[in-house]
Amino acid sequence: MRATKAIIYLENFRKNISIIKGLIPNKTKVCVPVKADAYGHGSIRIAKESEKIGVDFLAVATVDEGVELRKNGITLPILLLSLAIDEEYKEIIQNNLTPLVFDKEVIESLNNQAKLLNKKINVHLKINTGMGRIGCRIEDAIEIAKIIDTSAYLTLQGVCTHLPVSDSIKKKDISFTKKQIASFKKITDEIRLEGIDPGIIHCAASGGILMYPEASFDMVRPGIISYGYYPDSSIEKSVEIIQKKKVVFSPVMELQTAIVSIQKILKNESVSYGRTWIAKKDTSVGVIPIGYADGLLRKLNPHLSVLIKNKEYFVVGRICMDQCMILLNDDSSVKRWDVVVLFGPNSTITADTWAKKLKTIPYEITCCINKRVPRLYIE
Ligand SMILES: *Cc1c(COP(=O)(O)O)cnc(C)c1O
Repeated sequence: MRATKAIIYLENFRKNISIIKGLIPNKTKVCVPVKADAYGHGSIRIAKESEKIGVDFLAVATVDEGVELRKNGITLPILLLSLAIDEEYKEIIQNNLTPLVFDKEVIESLNNQAKLLNKKINVHLKINTGMGRIGCRIEDAIEIAKIIDTSAYLTLQGVCTHLPVSDSIKKKDISFTKKQIASFKKITDEIRLEGIDPGIIHCAASGGILMYPEASFDMVRPGIISYGYYPDSSIEKSVEIIQKKKVVFSPVMELQTAIVSIQKILKNESVSYGRTWIAKKDTSVGVIPIGYADGLLRKLNPHLSVLIKNKEYFVVGRICMDQCMILLNDDSSVKRWDVVVLFGPNSTITADTWAKKLKTIPYEITCCINKRVPRLYIE
């Protein structure tokens, strides 16, 4: 295995799921999103671990992601969170994936396809209560629920929505989310009053679970917190107040590499493309075999640091596609083959540190660790 690897601490994943279960009612189911290769952690292994520890549902974004899980023996229900196209419906049905539906055209087409295959499938009705992405309008929800209910090959297994600002502590966002939760609850009650069982009611992703205990309903969909990060670190204090305790998750991924060469660099000599870094004195730099093609984005430097035996060293010069250099100065304690930690648990540098530097969110950091970086699973 190459020196550059993402170590996946399954124990931290299990810990995070158990913390999540402690935040929701006993009867509330847990659906772990394993889309985008489980946010970069490896969807098959995370799905298998989820099955072992009693997770109820998995969720993916694409049909291919769902099919890959089925091919690897995963039997949990799998929600399909994004929309597929007509030519994929057959695979959805054959692989027993559970699509979100919300319009007549797709419902009829899925029902016809299921009839052709003589196989019934579960669907969840998606309602757009404010995300402005997919879902039917609230005022159309009853009509759509009725269409599903009368489709012979479809079973309405659940009703769901998504909250766009549940991870914000801004007053206007909190009032928006509260209204969304209330109108979602109201429409599910109305569906029931029409004599249709809405099944599993769900709306909360990580932010909703942490900030709105009343939004747990029958199932929650914790993505980023399962992998050890807050959706937005600015909510930590509010969460402590709402949950009446500190809620701390453990990052599941550690990105590490090793020093593969130590180079002498003399005063006024430069390092890397563009010659943006010039040595002010005679020094030494370590070469690490990781670059932007691995997910160490070029924009991370200058001022990016890494850890060797818990001591901080800075990346110097531009990050190349497959390698970059770190300034060792005259630190003779650093040796060739020493392990270099880029981010991870038990470290002062996390994916959140990178996210802040890049003005993005930790989701994007772990997702962007390229597939060519092998994942090493630690039980
Ligand atoms: C990705 C996703 C989630 C998980 O979101 P997190 O913020 O990572 O918890 C939940 N629901 C839907 C519909 C999603 O697309």
